[in-house]
Amino acid sequence: MTTATDVAVAQAAALLLRSHSGIAFTGAGVSVESGIPHFRGEGGLWTKFDPYKVAHIDTFRKDPSQYWTYSLNHRRTDAEPNPAHRALVELERLGHLRAVITQNTDGLHQRAGSKEVIELHGSSHSVVCLDCEARFPRDQVDRMNREHCPPSCPACGGQFLKPTVVLFGEALPMPALREAQALAMAADLVLIVGSSLQVYPAAGIPRLARQHGAELCIVNAEATPFDEVASAVIHGKAGEVLPEIVRRMGTG
Ligand code: NAD
Ligand code: ZN
Repeated sequence: MTTATDVAVAQAAALLLRSHSGIAFTGAGVSVESGIPHFRGEGGLWTKFDPYKVAHIDTFRKDPSQYWTYSLNHRRTDAEPNPAHRALVELERLGHLRAVITQNTDGLHQRAGSKEVIELHGSSHSVVCLDCEARFPRDQVDRMNREHCPPSCPACGGQFLKPTVVLFGEALPMPALREAQALAMAADLVLIVGSSLQVYPAAGIPRLARQHGAELCIVNAEATPFDEVASAVIHGKAGEVLPEIVRRMGTG
């Protein structure tokens, strides 16, 4: 670790130690070390695929089989939480974080043991029928998809089964957004991990928190547009940096 990183880690540890209403705001980068690719930035999926073709609600409605074929070939079902997810569990347990607000749909924060998790972009583990609104576990639909792609709704026979993930062109789930906004307005610190902070309205959450007086601490592999207004910025891997911050909090 360089001296500059070491100083920033110490700053982050001090910020967390004095926080009473901190929140974490996470993005795809927190799951990269679990083997799930991120979207933007170096090596991201959107450098290989056009998001408006594979992840837009209009394209999905025209032809859901494209999505389900992609899912058949690319969906990771064996991903496990990594040390970054576990460090966030520890910070919640120690009383330094009230909640994790995530843009991720992989469910790894919950799997790791975080209790208060707000999913701004839905979940890839549940599937909804766009015709009758019945919901099904992803595992069940994946099994159906392996037999017949695209799968159809077991309740009404509809052809539009969609994971509850928010696709481009769709609104964010209002209850999750409202809850995240309330936490942001009350927060004294936002620990931002693995997000390019380029996707709105989600990136509006740390911005709102800052407008209401919160300090920002950023852990990300690359620079972000919020770096210059943050109190501590650490460019590195979440799975290495977060456990180091937690260790530093214990040793002073
Ligand atoms: P993003 O892809 O825009 O940004 C991820 C950031 O993480 C990048 O800046 C990258 O440099 C950084 N990063 C990569 N590896 C890292 C590591 N090991 N440690 C720390 N940082 C690392 O992701 P975002 O900001 O979450 O963008 C939001 C969109 O991505 C949302 O729509 C979200 O739903 C979606 N998404 C979710 C998942 C998932 O559930 N795991 C995966 C891909 C994309
Ligand atoms: Zn249905």
